[in-house]
Amino acid sequence: MPVSQKRQLNRSAELQRRAENLLPGGVDSPVRAFRAVGGSPPFAVRGEGAYLWDADGNRYLDYFGSWGPMILGHAFPPVVEAIQHAAANSASFGASTPSEGDLAELVIDAYPSIEKLRFVSSGTEATMSAIRLARASTKRDYIIKFEGCYHGHSDGLLVKAGSGVATFGIPGSAGVPDEIAHFTLALPFNDIFAVEAAFAEHRGQIACVILEPIVGNMGCVPPVDSYLQALRDITQREQALLIFDEVMTGFRVAYGGAQELYGVQPDMTTLGKIIGGGLPCGAFGARSEIMDMLAPLGPVYQAGTLSGNPLAMAAGIATVSHLKEHRNEVYARLEALSAAVADGVAAEAARIGLSLTTNRVGAMFTWFFAANSVIDFESAVTSDTATFARFHQAMLDQGIWLPPSQYEAAFMSTAHTMDDVAHTISAAKDALQGLA
Ligand code: PLP
Repeated sequence: MPVSQKRQLNRSAELQRRAENLLPGGVDSPVRAFRAVGGSPPFAVRGEGAYLWDADGNRYLDYFGSWGPMILGHAFPPVVEAIQHAAANSASFGASTPSEGDLAELVIDAYPSIEKLRFVSSGTEATMSAIRLARASTKRDYIIKFEGCYHGHSDGLLVKAGSGVATFGIPGSAGVPDEIAHFTLALPFNDIFAVEAAFAEHRGQIACVILEPIVGNMGCVPPVDSYLQALRDITQREQALLIFDEVMTGFRVAYGGAQELYGVQPDMTTLGKIIGGGLPCGAFGARSEIMDMLAPLGPVYQAGTLSGNPLAMAAGIATVSHLKEHRNEVYARLEALSAAVADGVAAEAARIGLSLTTNRVGAMFTWFFAANSVIDFESAVTSDTATFARFHQAMLDQGIWLPPSQYEAAFMSTAHTMDDVAHTISAAKDALQGLA
């Protein structure tokens, strides 16, 4: 479909008008509103493999994969069957189930830094609970996070956050008391001297350093060489805990996440997205001595009506088991497809003379409309977001749905094919030419 041939979005536009009267911005999560890229957001009604269909019957090649979980594509048959089977036995019990142990064993086996974990219903809960545990176990109040990293929407973690917070240019969030934000030290990513300085200034007061080991929420920004190891060394020396928020990177950049890829073991890990196979699920885990501080064994309280929900466990088990069984083939395929599309589009931009910086680690990547390399939040926000918005729209018009913000990572699934990649590169060529 040429760029000029507009999709009909009558039904989606109608649904959006209705939603705006019912939900703030018409959405349940801000970036879905397409405010950063313009246009009416398509309302999704069906997904199969690498494709999505909207309420008007338009088909899209999906590069956001429900923001990460759909690594095996939409409606992957073993996941659908597992959910159907679990649902037939009841959607929820509020009692312990065998499936929690089954998924816990799979995750712990893949993440040697985790001895015990607890399931929750979102990444936000996972990071919020991990921070509470880190504070309790160190008896310290300050935390270090990094500008442009997003760890969900709990109060103390919204300070200089990425994702929607960055997309809408909000420095933090109204409604977070200064007294709470005060305990969050937000530092530039990939700058080890800033971390040393913060520890020097707050010696003996910093409970933990939390980070996305490969940032996805200011667009994809990998750690510079030896940065993660340096954080490991400093936190060990200062007796603070190192928390890898692998909600996005877990089971995505490698089966054992960024900690396997870079060979650096954190004290605590948070997970989400892929471990729920598309259903609401998160987890936080660590050594037993830390995790056993949680109620009912210890004084740290954390709970959830739907935590370890049997449908989420079933979808997670089906997804993670498939990744485990086909591990070599899956990650090799994701790497080949992602390299081909990321480099292919970058080459088209270079041919046209457009400034495009491509960051990629395995099956997560971002095309930044920026001339310089993007290594932190400061460089990410120099991107030309207006040009990104035009690119996004032009791609969407050709049936390719990228994440609707410059500050989000794109994801590849195993359902994508080299034909999809070739189609994407050719669509990008047209889209980029329209920008030049
Ligand atoms: N941590 C990271 C790295 C994330 O990318 C996200 C969400 O995108 C979260 C935490 C929050 O997870 P959730 O949206 O499930 O609350």
